[in-house]
Amino acid sequence: MTDLKLFNSLTRSLETFQPIHPGEARVYSCGPTVYNYQHVGNMRAYVFADTLGRVLSFKGYKLTHVINITDVGHLTSDADAGDDKMEKAAASAGKSAWDIAAHYQQVFEADLRRLNIREVQHPRATDYVEQMVAWNASIEGKHAYRLDGGLYFDVSTVPDYGRLARASTDEGEGRIETVEGKRHAADFALWRTTPPGETRQMEWDSPWGRGAPGWHIECSVMSAELLGHPFDIHTGGIDHREIHHPNEIAQNQAHACGPDTGARIWMHNNFLVDRRGKMSKSTGDFLTLQALVDRGYHPLAYRLLCLQAHYRSELEFTWEGLGAALVRLKRLVMAVERVKAALADGKQPEGSFPLSDDERAIFDEAIGNDLNTPEVLTALEAAVGAKKVPAAKRIQIVRIADALLGLDLLTLTREELRLKPADAQIAEDEIDRLIARRKEARAAKDFAASDVIRDELAARGVEVMDGDPLGWEWKL
Ligand code: AMP
Ligand code: ZN
Repeated sequence: MTDLKLFNSLTRSLETFQPIHPGEARVYSCGPTVYNYQHVGNMRAYVFADTLGRVLSFKGYKLTHVINITDVGHLTSDADAGDDKMEKAAASAGKSAWDIAAHYQQVFEADLRRLNIREVQHPRATDYVEQMVAWNASIEGKHAYRLDGGLYFDVSTVPDYGRLARASTDEGEGRIETVEGKRHAADFALWRTTPPGETRQMEWDSPWGRGAPGWHIECSVMSAELLGHPFDIHTGGIDHREIHHPNEIAQNQAHACGPDTGARIWMHNNFLVDRRGKMSKSTGDFLTLQALVDRGYHPLAYRLLCLQAHYRSELEFTWEGLGAALVRLKRLVMAVERVKAALADGKQPEGSFPLSDDERAIFDEAIGNDLNTPEVLTALEAAVGAKKVPAAKRIQIVRIADALLGLDLLTLTREELRLKPADAQIAEDEIDRLIARRKEARAAKDFAASDVIRDELAARGVEVMDGDPLGWEWKL
């Protein structure tokens, strides 16, 4: 196999992956803040993290992958002042912060499954508060100072603060609301003490008073606890390259008493945008995976939409684009169905056809080149349609593609991909029944009856698609 080259945001260059522990790959991906639904932009970050994990497994590494759940400590901006997202969501829903977190975590995990994102560890920040307190206490002397609001990290105490963001200390944090008494604009909270007279639903005792951990500390602590420092790869959306990850690195350096940044390679996916710009939770105006499903789209069409773009490119979401991805997925599924049929009718020899190096290389090179999924998809389409290649061999190629891309091409059926809007006026099995009756009528040359059925379907919002090359038969 060829080398796996990955783009490291720390060095802004492609680097050959070399595991810290031979034969193993350890990956940490910043997970969701569970005060609201995740939008499809967030899900792009996990499709990317999952693809990375799949590629590492394909390359033969034993993978340990963590996607944490932020159920405490994330404020309504990257600043240290402002409302706590969890507490705010709980107050407006009239529920406990713990219930809010449990609910949105559950929905998040269901979305992961619908997108065929493999199961990994999902530790919750609230289960690691004790370790966060211990970490903060261990770096307090040299790297932190106390204010009324809590314990603050002094960014001037570590080498090269903000190297990842490529921004100087002040300029990088200029837009952040300042907290009275902070030494540098970029200093950030390790602990937020509950103001006198207030109580939070989520708060713990600490040497800095009752309160809650800052947001950045959870990822330093959980990655160290679950993967050990240093570990191989840390991922997140590109927004995290500017503040959250530089702060994690600073905490890691303070804790290690040296230049160790915690992870060796830092990887960032670019944004999913729409006409108004980056899709974001705080504006409240965003699309969930469920919204796509309600419009009738299969979740894997969205996965394919993500894979068609390189993870470091911005990706624009449009309904037309999603529709095109759905059609592309269906063409792939139909091509695989033809290969399966060729195998079944026995015209093509059965048996084992080990893939040649050339055939494996189709995927290996593209995916090893910083996860070039668009190229893998094109190579796959060519390979599946290559009639001269024995069907048994082509099935094997699809199996590899499924392992890498997670599109379930071997099991997905074209029926499952049919557009099924949630507000459709007619059930699918009824459509199928009417279509079957119309076929019988046409076979019997009873065109009058066939037209009556077509009109009845049309009246209920179903368009019959005779002779459609994609074989959809009907659409709503
Ligand atoms: P959050 O819950 O806000 O911490 O976001 C969860 C993950 O989604 C993080 O890795 C973010 O960087 C990422 N993310 C947020 N918005 C987008 C977007 N529009 N496109 C891609 N990734 C995003
Ligand atoms: Zn994080």
